[in-house]
Amino acid sequence: MIITMQATATLVEITGVIRDIEERGARASVSKAGDRTIIGIVDPKGGMHVDTLRALPGVEDAQDLKQPFRRVSREFHPVSTEIKAGGSVIGDGGFQVIAGPCAVESEEQIHDVAREAAHHGATLLRGGVYKPRSSPYAFQGLGEQGLRFLASAARENGLASVSEVMSVRQIDEMVKYVDVLQIGARNMQNFDLLREVGATSKPVVLKRGLSATIEELLLAAEYISDAGNPNIILCERGIRTYERMTRNTLDIAAVPLLKQLSHLPVLVDPSHAAGRRDLVKPLALASLAAGADGVMIEIHPNPDCALSDGPQSLTYPQYAGLMDELSRVAGALGKCFGAGQKDHRRAAVVTT
Ligand code: PEP
Ligand code: MN
Repeated sequence: MIITMQATATLVEITGVIRDIEERGARASVSKAGDRTIIGIVDPKGGMHVDTLRALPGVEDAQDLKQPFRRVSREFHPVSTEIKAGGSVIGDGGFQVIAGPCAVESEEQIHDVAREAAHHGATLLRGGVYKPRSSPYAFQGLGEQGLRFLASAARENGLASVSEVMSVRQIDEMVKYVDVLQIGARNMQNFDLLREVGATSKPVVLKRGLSATIEELLLAAEYISDAGNPNIILCERGIRTYERMTRNTLDIAAVPLLKQLSHLPVLVDPSHAAGRRDLVKPLALASLAAGADGVMIEIHPNPDCALSDGPQSLTYPQYAGLMDELSRVAGALGKCFGAGQKDHRRAAVVTT
């Protein structure tokens, strides 16, 4: 349920409504929409009724929510959420790039990638150390040692770090090293894991499951938010369809739809969507044009020798070309871009 308070509602009336909600065993979440205070209600027992709420002093209207997700919905919280990750903000109307290898393979590799990523304007460094591989015999990641390498590479290059947490057992270790936790597609509905990352205060990139609907993705985000962590970044990374030419099918419509339905920032991962590097640039540009808050891109110093996801990893020159084009399109759209945003925006204005 959602309450809109009258523009003239006093603080006493607002706190009175919140007290009333809490006394009935429900929880209230307060946000602003213009001059109105919005009070979202999570009422697990379902004992509240809109008519009772409409009668409270200062209440303009009360409605049942149209969607099953609550805290993450835009109805509940009309203002877009901005998430701070290291020195950058995701969801403030700008466009951020998370770049890095599929997996941290060595100290040298991740430092090299971090330098390249930062040089061209990425603000976050990705790198898996616990890899969800289809085969148990494939490279599984470097574990805690990889986290140490990732953290130092990110720090030395002024980047925030992102890495996937695959199990509840890894959370304590992960939070010591990374700025942003990632929940992978295969774990999108691992509800225990969602609740446990919800108990941390780290931002979480939540990837859409391989065959998850948009509603299921938002309900997965709801688990994290309901557990106490509102810092969630949704990530469209392609879904499995009958199409075999690409690894997955990028659901570009998910971007504007998620932005409509939710106040959370939305990223796109064109690398895992396409599974082939020649499609990463067009899909990244499409994501920017569709309103995404950023992209996550796999890059590698020598993709042909990568221990995982080489075919979809960009070479350094391809990454540099992508960043150049993204920055110019972002400028044309009047969006701030990554680390060097202001100069790029000016350049675009001059050349158009
Ligand atoms: C990844 O980002 O490393 C990854 C495994 O992606 P996904 O969970 O989207 O497959
Ligand atoms: Mn990968």
